[in-house]
This record gives sequence, C-alpha cells and structure tokens, in this order.
Amino acid sequence: METEAEKLTPMMVQYRQIKEQHQQTILFFRLGDFYEMFEQDAVEVSRLLNLTLTKRNGQPMCGIPYHAAKVYIKRLLEAGKKIAICEQTELPEGGRQLAKREVVQVVTPATVVEEDFLEANRDSFVVSLSFQKQGLSISYADITSGQFFLRMVEKDSRYAMLLSVLQQVNPREILVNEDDYFLYQDFQSLIDAHPAMVTKLPSWHFSISEGYTRLCNHIGSTSLKAFGLENKNPMLSSAGALLWYLKETAKTSLNQIEGYTLVSESEYLHIDEASRKSLELLANLADGTEKYTLFSSINATLTSMGARLLKQWIASPLTDRERIRFRQSWVTLLCEDRDELARVRSHLKMVLDLQRLSSRLVMHRHLPKDLVGISQTVRAFFNLVDDRYHPLLGDALCEQTLSSLAIMAKSIADGISDDHQGPFEEGKVIVTGFDAELDTLRSIKGGGKAILDVYLDKVRQETGITTLRLSSNKILGHFIEVSKNQAEKVPSTFYRKQTLVNAERFTSDELIACEQKILASAFEAEKRERQVYESLVEEVMNHQQALLAISRFLSELDCLQSFASTAITHSYCKPTFTDEDVLEFEGGRHPVVEQHLGTGQFIANDLTISSTGKRFCLITGPNMAGKSTFLRQTALLVILSQIGSYVPATKARLGIVDKLYCRVGASDNLARGESTFLVEMQEAAHILRTATRNSLVIVDELGRGTSTQDGMSIAYAIMQQLLGMQAKALFATHYHELARIDTSALQLLTLQVSEMGGQVRFLRRVIEGIANSSYGLNVARMAGIGREVLAHARTFQKQHFAEYDLGSIQPDLFSAIGDESAQQVLYDETEQEILYQLRSFSIEQSSPLQALLFLKT
Ligand code: ADP
Repeated sequence: METEAEKLTPMMVQYRQIKEQHQQTILFFRLGDFYEMFEQDAVEVSRLLNLTLTKRNGQPMCGIPYHAAKVYIKRLLEAGKKIAICEQTELPEGGRQLAKREVVQVVTPATVVEEDFLEANRDSFVVSLSFQKQGLSISYADITSGQFFLRMVEKDSRYAMLLSVLQQVNPREILVNEDDYFLYQDFQSLIDAHPAMVTKLPSWHFSISEGYTRLCNHIGSTSLKAFGLENKNPMLSSAGALLWYLKETAKTSLNQIEGYTLVSESEYLHIDEASRKSLELLANLADGTEKYTLFSSINATLTSMGARLLKQWIASPLTDRERIRFRQSWVTLLCEDRDELARVRSHLKMVLDLQRLSSRLVMHRHLPKDLVGISQTVRAFFNLVDDRYHPLLGDALCEQTLSSLAIMAKSIADGISDDHQGPFEEGKVIVTGFDAELDTLRSIKGGGKAILDVYLDKVRQETGITTLRLSSNKILGHFIEVSKNQAEKVPSTFYRKQTLVNAERFTSDELIACEQKILASAFEAEKRERQVYESLVEEVMNHQQALLAISRFLSELDCLQSFASTAITHSYCKPTFTDEDVLEFEGGRHPVVEQHLGTGQFIANDLTISSTGKRFCLITGPNMAGKSTFLRQTALLVILSQIGSYVPATKARLGIVDKLYCRVGASDNLARGESTFLVEMQEAAHILRTATRNSLVIVDELGRGTSTQDGMSIAYAIMQQLLGMQAKALFATHYHELARIDTSALQLLTLQVSEMGGQVRFLRRVIEGIANSSYGLNVARMAGIGREVLAHARTFQKQHFAEYDLGSIQPDLFSAIGDESAQQVLYDETEQEILYQLRSFSIEQSSPLQALLFLKT
C-alpha cells in the first residue's frame, strides 16, 4: 500500500519541507500569480479572512492574488499571525519540473518596514528578555529606524522594572526564552497580559557567547570592548537572540542598525509602570488613545520622526543636568528668536520620514518615490541648517560627507520622476535629459513608429494596395494585413503568417529587421534605465550613516522647536536646576487640564519643598476640590523639567529627581484579579523599598480598599516611614485625623473651599491648613443620589460622627471668593435642597391642585 508521502506531488513535498521550517507562521506559497495556503494554514486563513476553501488532491487549500497580498497580510498581522512569504526564486528549466522556492521574508508586526503596515507616530520595537543570574537582560530594537538598546535590570526589582520598561518602550513584539517563560509563572502571566506579539525561542538562542559573536559580526569588530561590553556581559544574552530574530525574519543585513546604546538605569528618571499609566503620559486611561495625554498637550512637532522621538523623551526623562541644560539652551534660543523658530518650522514641514525611508532602502524594500522623499528631506535639511546648529548636529557629518550628500540629493532630484508612485516600471522612473545614453536608446525606441510608417508607405507604393495596413499583436508581432481579394497582389517575397475569414496577414524580411531594431532599442533602454536607477540607489545606500545622522538631527530639532512653540503658545517658563534637593513651583498648572478648560480658567498653584524644611506635604480637602489635579500636576512639572522642556508655571526651581512614584486614580490591576488593598500595599511596599531622599512620592488616598481603622493606621505608618527617609512627598488623604496626630514635620496643605449663602464653592487654591470635612454628601447629590437617601445619610452621619462638622467652614475663606467662572457651585443642607425645589417649581405651568400637592410633599 502507498504511504501518504508517496502519494504527494513533488510540489507538495516541497511545500511540506518549507512548512516544516516555518511551523509558527502562515506560509504564503507562491504559485504563479497567487500565494497559496495549504492544509492547516488554509483552514485557518479561510476562517480568519473569510476566503473560499477548496481542495487539491484531497488537501484543503485557499489562495490570494499576489498583487493584493498586502491587504491580506495586514489583516493576518492584526489577527496576531506571522506570515512567511515563500517566492519562486528560480523558474523550472533544463528538465526540472519544479520551481525553486525560498522564504524571502517573515512578516511580523515589528519587522515590516513598508509604510502601509506602520503607524507613523509610533516606534516599532521588538523587546527581547532573558533571565540571568545578575538580573533580567533586556534588549530592544526598531529596524525601521535602526535603534538598538541594551540594558540590565536588578534581580530584586526585575518584574517592576520590566513592567516599567514595557510601558516605556511600548513594543510591538516580545521575544522570550521559552525556558524562562515556562519556569516563572509570574513572568508568564505578565507577558501574556501584554498586547504585543510574543515569540518563545529555544534557550540556545540566548547564549551569551553566541550573542557576543553575533554582535561582533554585526558591528564588524573582533571585540566589543571599545563599545563598552566584555564578552561575558549578560546583556549579550537578550541582544544576541534579538539580532538573530531580526535577521531571520527580515532576511536582510540590517545595516541600518549601526551599533547599540547601553542604557544605564541611573541615566533616566525612574518612573514605575503604575505611575506611567496613571499620569497618562502617552496614552489615556479611558480608551488608551493619545487624547488628553501629556504628549498630546505639548506636541507641536511637525514630522513623524519628531513625534516618535518626543514620545521617547517623555517616556525617558533625564537625570543628567548637563544634558537637560543642553536641550533647554536650544528651546531658549528658539523662544527668544521667533523669526528663527518660524524659519525652522517652515523647513521642517518639508521633512519626510528619513529614518524609515533610508531603512527601507538598505533592506531593499524601497520604491522609487522613497528616493525622491530622501532627496527632498536632505534638501530641506540643507536649507535649514546653518553654523549655529553644529553643536546639535555633532561630529557625525564632516564637510566632505555633506558635500557628497548634496550632490546625491541633486542627482535624485534631477534624475527620478517625482510623479511615479508604484514599484520600478520601465519608462516611468528616470526622467529624460538625465542620462544621455538612455535618451539615445529611448529616441530609437520612440522612433519605432516613424520607421514603421516609412516602411508602410514604401510597401503601399510597391504593391499598389492602398488599403494595406500595418498592425501588431502579442502572438504575431508586427504584420501586414490585406483584404482577401487583394491578397494576390502581395509579392512572393512576403511570408504568409495567418489567414482570417476576410483578410491575410504577412510579414517580410525587411519588416522583421525593422521590428528587431525597435525591440533591441526598447530592451536596451529598459536595461539602461534600471542601471541608472540602481546606481542612484547605491549612491544613497553609501550615505546611510549620514542619512541616519541627519534623521537624528531633524527629529531632535523638531522636538526642541516643539518645546519652544508650546512654551510660547501656553506661556511656559524655563525651570532652573540646582544642587539643592528642592522642589519649588510658583504658579504651577496642569498642562492637560489647563488646555481642556481654556485660557485663564485654570487656577495656578504654588508648591515649595525645601531641602531642610518640611518635605512631607499632607493634603486634605473635599472631593472634587482639585487634589488629584494638584498631585498629578506636580509630577508632570517634574517630568517636563527633566525632559528639557519649559513648564506651565511662572517660576520653577528644582534639584534632579531620581525616582518618581505617583499613585493617583484607580489602579487597573483589579483586572488581574488582585484586590485594591493588596495592590495598594504591594505598591506601597515597593515605594518604601526603593525610594531615596531624591525621589518624589505622590500618593492619593492610601488605604482606601480596607476598613477606615486599618486604612488610616497603614497610611499613618507609611507616612512615618517616608518622613524618616526624607523623600519629597505629597500625600492626599481623607483621613483628616492624620493631620491631627503630630504635625511638626508636615506641611499641611488644603484646597480652599468656601461657603456663602448656603453655597459651597471650590476655589481650587492650595493653601496651608486642614480641611474640615469631605463634603461627600454634596458630591453624592451632584451625582444624582436621591433626596431621601441623602437625608438618611445625613441623619446617620449626625448620629455616628458628631465630630464631623459639615457646615463649618474656615471664616477667613469668605473673603477669598473671587472669579466665579472657576468655581464649582454646590448646594448644601437639606433646606437648600427644599429651597431649590421650590425655586424650580413652575407656577405658570401648574394647576392650583398640583401646586398644593407639591407643597404637601
Ligand atoms: P479631587 O481629587 O480633589 O477629587 P480633582 O483633582 O479630580 O479633585 O478635580 C476635580 C475637577 O476640578 C477636575 O475635573 C478639574 O477640571 C477641576 N480642577 C481641578 N483643579 C483645578 C484648578 N487648579 N483650576 C481649575 N479647575 C481645576
């Protein structure tokens, strides 16, 4: 009996061999003008993409036309699939029946470079992770821009750090060592919860020595010492696997990755995952978009490279004062010279995504229009740059490189047609007048019609057949056509090619010669055009390093001008840095809330934490008074200062903050099945373990998730510990008792509230003092809780919490009521409610009986 393998056609045998090596992917198997999928792949894809499933020799199959592949690839990527593209690399010949087929690219979310698959404003990182004795080895790279980072995080805080890095980098893909993944349960659930595509690789890919060899080979050096790495460095583990993966999937040389950057943990302000999320730096908590984020409120970049870099800067504020000052100095320059700012902005508008354009080029995935884009951007760069920008440009570009770049950009501008959109197509890419040889060949080709016209005239005269026609088709080539009744007039030197019902078709030696001459020149013209194009491509490739340096410069300048533009538009000031460990903001505002409310509506506030004074601020105040806004605003002012931006304040002075913890707003960890209180305590423990004197700790309502007594006690103990370590702290609490215990070391702050004529007003002003109560019932009323429920609550409150005096308001506040527009008006007391009901009763529209009934109730 035949085995299954014996029944398979040679092509299916070939298919299975290739599929065997690409089991984790959908294999697009090229068959003529189609990509076919077979067996399990076919079943899965037909379900995912709603394609018709057919059978071939009993095997399921489905196919898509090759020219429409992009659409299907995009949908499969969105469904979380990888796609291996298998092309026919040699057609059958010389007795061979089967075309040679090879996988030329594996398409994954982070290794595609084509514009259609990328988000312009988002980096496209792959993160690689490997557990080592010393901690967690983390590397990440973006092949669309050539960035490659290596870092190592300590063992004790590896999960917290990993979460923070994932938030910071926002990868599209994650690589893990499958041993780690199956060994560490916590790690597994953390990775599974992340939206990026996860690839588990066998552990041998993560060997340190292998990683060392791979990096040396990639960089083209025998040692990495000069690049800061010894051969046993554990960072090489994740980095080696990453490099292997990128090469394997993209199947190119990855020349755009010139080197790597070693990230030292102390280089950046440490912001943990929960703080990154709750501060809504790059994505908001509501729907995960950029709306109402710090990024969107300060983003005035004009290029996608700049927008991506700005996101990186926001995600990684600096701790090195000199680097911050360097950025600030450019912002100052542009703020003080508005004409220059306008000039820079006008040139940046001409800048395209040079990083991605040049990466596509080195990976041979470019289109002719990409070259045009590169040339346009390089020319915009030359128009923009002058001597003053040399410090920002650095040493990467010498005079010689710059002049050869200028020549390159001009050649492209002169040579390549800027209105051709698609892939290379003969006759449409190189413009006339650029290459003399091409022009000559084209003129012969173009002259084809003239040659044929002369010949046609001659034959008509010689034969006397005036109706004789010259035509062509794909099968016969050129031919002479005469009607049946004229056929005998055709000379015997002509060869009959085809007989139709009413006509005869002929050719002649002379016609064949004419045809060959035309064909040869057309062929030569096509060949020459491709040559000219390829030489331009090569010229650009030779400038790869310079192009990346220009990309870096343009994206940095774009971020800096964005800082300046935002500072001017929203009246930001330049923060000053000092050696003292202080935090001083005068007239500080929340950048996002301020823009949302509109000009002049936001109430600015001050904060002073000196190096020797009271460094712990206990903030009490009713709900809705503006506590969270004030807390978040303080964190955002620190972040903005340390990314080199100006800040929404009238004066800002601070020492470098090393770590920022911000616990404000709901935690989303509940979704992971953990209780609020447990999460809160874990986070508090993490803060206490890792914060230093130079850190800023911001906590809103610690101890919410448990009983009042427990919550208050825990909050008290944590407060004491933070006081002991002298960290700068802002602590908002409902437990007003905390402010009555021992206040000698505390700054007691509260949000000003006032009452007049039974109305409670939130003035949004931070002042010294303790709030009297939380006005919870007022907020409940505002939220629509019914009158009866509120009355019950009030009775209960009076009986059980006599010390809470809802009505009493600090007398000195009466004078402080000012700008009505910025005040939130609430009604207090049951009487006020009745008054309100009376006032809103419409006498005109009610009958006397209705009015009586109303009064009765
Ligand atoms: P709390 O944390 O005390 O409950 P929030 O900080 O959430 O209060 O503030 C409540 C609302 O008040 C916010 O939605 C915001 O629009 C407004 N608000 C807060 N602070 C200010 C301010 N300084 N100026 C103007 N409006 C503010």
